[in-house]
Amino acid sequence: MKKCLLAILGMALMVVSCQKETPNDLQQSAQEVEVDMSDFYLYTDDVSPFTSKNGTKYCATMRVLNEKLRKNPGLEQRMYNIEKNSRKWMAAKKPDKAGGGNGNGNGGGENPPPPPEDDGLGVINIPVVVHVIYNVNNPQENISDAQIASQIQILNDDFNAQNSDVSGVPAEFADLVADSDFSFNLVQTIRKSSTKTSWGTNDAMKRSSSGGSDPVDPQNKLNIWVCNIGGGILGYAQFPGGSPDTDGVVVGPQFFGDTGYVQSPFDQGRTTTHEVGHWVNLRHIWGDGRCRQDDFVADTPTSDGPNYGCPSYPTVNCRSNDMTMNYMDYVDDGCMYMFSEGQKSRMRSIFASGGPRNSFLAL
Ligand SMILES: [Zn+2]
Repeated sequence: MKKCLLAILGMALMVVSCQKETPNDLQQSAQEVEVDMSDFYLYTDDVSPFTSKNGTKYCATMRVLNEKLRKNPGLEQRMYNIEKNSRKWMAAKKPDKAGGGNGNGNGGGENPPPPPEDDGLGVINIPVVVHVIYNVNNPQENISDAQIASQIQILNDDFNAQNSDVSGVPAEFADLVADSDFSFNLVQTIRKSSTKTSWGTNDAMKRSSSGGSDPVDPQNKLNIWVCNIGGGILGYAQFPGGSPDTDGVVVGPQFFGDTGYVQSPFDQGRTTTHEVGHWVNLRHIWGDGRCRQDDFVADTPTSDGPNYGCPSYPTVNCRSNDMTMNYMDYVDDGCMYMFSEGQKSRMRSIFASGGPRNSFLAL
């Protein structure tokens, strides 16, 4: 009996794999794929200092996640389910896509690059709402429309490999540079003054009841709060799976865009690129742990911690060259300029059927 069932299942799988895959087929086959979840983790030792040292980068995303996991018992299971759905979707589209999403990065150029991967999702449109919350005594924090526009442009450049500095990617990683097919579009700017000088990381800026600004339609829009966080923190994001009431990213005004009230060396808009990376479920490139703890992306080399400043190439950790120029590291804005193909697959997977941001596809 069991053999019979297996045979029928096998034939069904063959039928699916022989036809041209549509998104529905992909989803159907994704349901049938078994994936290994044994390496999945959520809680991390936050290896970063609580506050940044002078001039170093600090993103509070993982520390905020640890706090949210402690306070919200359902979050761990939701994030596990999201991860599993993503892995199934990525595994289902892997066969007959040799090299796609997992290139070896030989950079030799002897073979033509594989054709662009069609995952059936098309260009993903992300409407953006920016909440500018400024201190009444520091009008500089009420950043200009031009500064906001510069950040939207940077998001579009960085997520689509249109950034001018992408040419700096070393040959070892050149084949892995990803054009992720996202389109960010500013749809609303909300400005609010406050007597607060810093907001911390408890999401107060996301609630009008605590002097902040409520998110606008978070199921269908990316909400970005621009306000001073304090403690040397440049920004933080909420991963998919968290509460819609706090969904989005927070960035300090000096680290938003590349014109106006910006502060070197984080004055090229890459803090927001990094935080939006988390919002689409990317982990830090070193995996927030030592060599054996992964970022769940196959084509990013393992590392044992963040890089800072502007590292020279090659920077070797865990017996391989770090991809220090990846947006999900901690280097200065001018020294990060790529997402990888593996990160692209991971980001896009959350927009697939069953994924936590699938509703954006209808926009
Ligand atoms: Zn981060």
